[in-house]
Amino acid sequence: MSDPRKQPAKTPPEQGKDEWFLPEEARTRLKELFKSLVNDVEVAVFTAPGLNDPYNEYVTKLVSDLARLDERIQPSFHGLDGEAAKKHGVAASPTVLLAPDKYKIRFSGAPVGEEGRSFLSAILHASAGNSGLSDVSRQILEKLDQPRKAQVFVTPTCPYCPGQVLNAVRCAVEKPGLVAAECVETDENPDLAAEYNVGSVPHTVFNDGAHEQLGLMPEERFALELFALKDAEEVLGSGQADLPKAEPGEYDLVIAGAGPAGLTAAIYAVRSGLKTVVLEKSVIGGQVTLTPVVENYPGFKTVPGKALMEIMTDHARRYAPIQEGEGVESVTREGDRLLCTTPRGAYRAKAVILSTGATYRKLGIPGEEEYFGAGVNYCASCDGYLYKSKKVAIVGGGNTALTDALHLKNLGIEVTVIHRRDSFRAQKHLQDSLEREGIPVIWNTEVTEVRGENGRATGIALRNVESGETSELQLDGMFIAIGYTPHNELAKALGLELDEAGFVKVDKNMRTSQRLVYACGDITGGVQQIVTAIGEGSVAAITAFEDISHPYWVE
Ligand code: NAP
Repeated sequence: MSDPRKQPAKTPPEQGKDEWFLPEEARTRLKELFKSLVNDVEVAVFTAPGLNDPYNEYVTKLVSDLARLDERIQPSFHGLDGEAAKKHGVAASPTVLLAPDKYKIRFSGAPVGEEGRSFLSAILHASAGNSGLSDVSRQILEKLDQPRKAQVFVTPTCPYCPGQVLNAVRCAVEKPGLVAAECVETDENPDLAAEYNVGSVPHTVFNDGAHEQLGLMPEERFALELFALKDAEEVLGSGQADLPKAEPGEYDLVIAGAGPAGLTAAIYAVRSGLKTVVLEKSVIGGQVTLTPVVENYPGFKTVPGKALMEIMTDHARRYAPIQEGEGVESVTREGDRLLCTTPRGAYRAKAVILSTGATYRKLGIPGEEEYFGAGVNYCASCDGYLYKSKKVAIVGGGNTALTDALHLKNLGIEVTVIHRRDSFRAQKHLQDSLEREGIPVIWNTEVTEVRGENGRATGIALRNVESGETSELQLDGMFIAIGYTPHNELAKALGLELDEAGFVKVDKNMRTSQRLVYACGDITGGVQQIVTAIGEGSVAAITAFEDISHPYWVE
């Protein structure tokens, strides 16, 4: 059989002249977005028939549509055997290069799903020639004089991935001669993914493996690690570099955490007249963003968690600035103000709302940490794709475990649920769906160990809690969905009263044990529903406003 890479791609694509690939609504939104294009930007598409054909077709049609929407987007189509591929070292199909004569920005694999966002943002950055990096990141990269490459492995459903891809793209725009940014769709580039043992995304490989990181990184941290090819802690601890600080800002209210509770608090606070900023360590939207489908949010019969949070974020942004990737590291009292410090600087506020949510609970068994990202995962939305046509287990019996099991099954994954009791605590509706889908359940069983070989999990050890019988299950991966533990570090440092499980104690007005500090959402425990988080967020903001304007402790 001839090498499919030798056959040139059709150019221009066969699409009929009046035929659009993108739906009308998307085209209208894109037209609006492209108003902010500045200069022409070449979008070079490389494809070879026989290699990822559906993705080749997708990207060819997508780029053709984008070019028809705005003439500043200038497409070019190439095979893998031509001069252009040779010049830019392109060997994978499909590959897209943005402004290749100026920048080293590469999408290896079609920018499908979540990556559509980073692809469009990358086009805008390349067109404007403006990285949009903060002053701090710019100062870090100013000293860079050696080539750097950042390859970000992603999946189409991972909500954290576009943020990490944009970190790399921004650095590439800031340092055009030196920094190469590559978004690698893991599924479409299995050999490359296997080379770096990609088992959880986003997974970032710097300079061909000189340094690696899992997860979304705050922008300054990304810039620093790209520069130093080391963990930021190592660089900062050794005194080799100092993160420059931004100017402190004066606010009425700082909200730590941009999940449903924090976003709602922001809307209510600003509408009350409070100057407010929302600081989010990771990604806007919190845990809901990771929920494949939400079916109990009034007004939406069924809605992907990510879509719901985008609507909420869009609404909240109309009121308050939301700083993504900028976590509050400490809250201290300074006179009558609360000082919230972040890697970028200090925010002085009259009041603080903690809506920092909760994080995955761990099983705490041997092998869990060792094989994290190599067979052990916590985020089905992010990492489910990596197990297509493979066999995985989900541990847990709550709403998350069952929602995730259904999502994985839907992706074509062979999934088994393992639960420590003989009945689920998940909603009946989800239990019925699980049964309907024929997903097997191993009852009354706990996982006692994750076992593996050559750095990858290959199976788990089980123990029946009733009979004490032990067994082993061979698997490609395991998702742990056993609930959440609160992100209570700030609350602890402030000395707030917590309950025995570590959740922040609040009264019905969302006041904590300290004046002018409020808490709402998952960090307060309780039923942990989106609607309750929203309710608590509104109450926290209204109470903060009341207390700032009419302090109940002053006569
Ligand atoms: P959850 O409701 O706390 O359930 C955790 C599950 O993990 C339980 O079945 C529990 O078993 C099991 N578990 C806990 N520790 C374990 C351990 N060490 N070993 C083995 N199993 C363990 O957590 P969740 O499902 O993540 O849900 C968290 C909150 O979010 C809940 O309030 C939930 O209602 C909400 N949520 C709602 C939706 C929705 O409404 N669509 C979707 C997702 C989450 P036991 O049952 O034996 O305790």
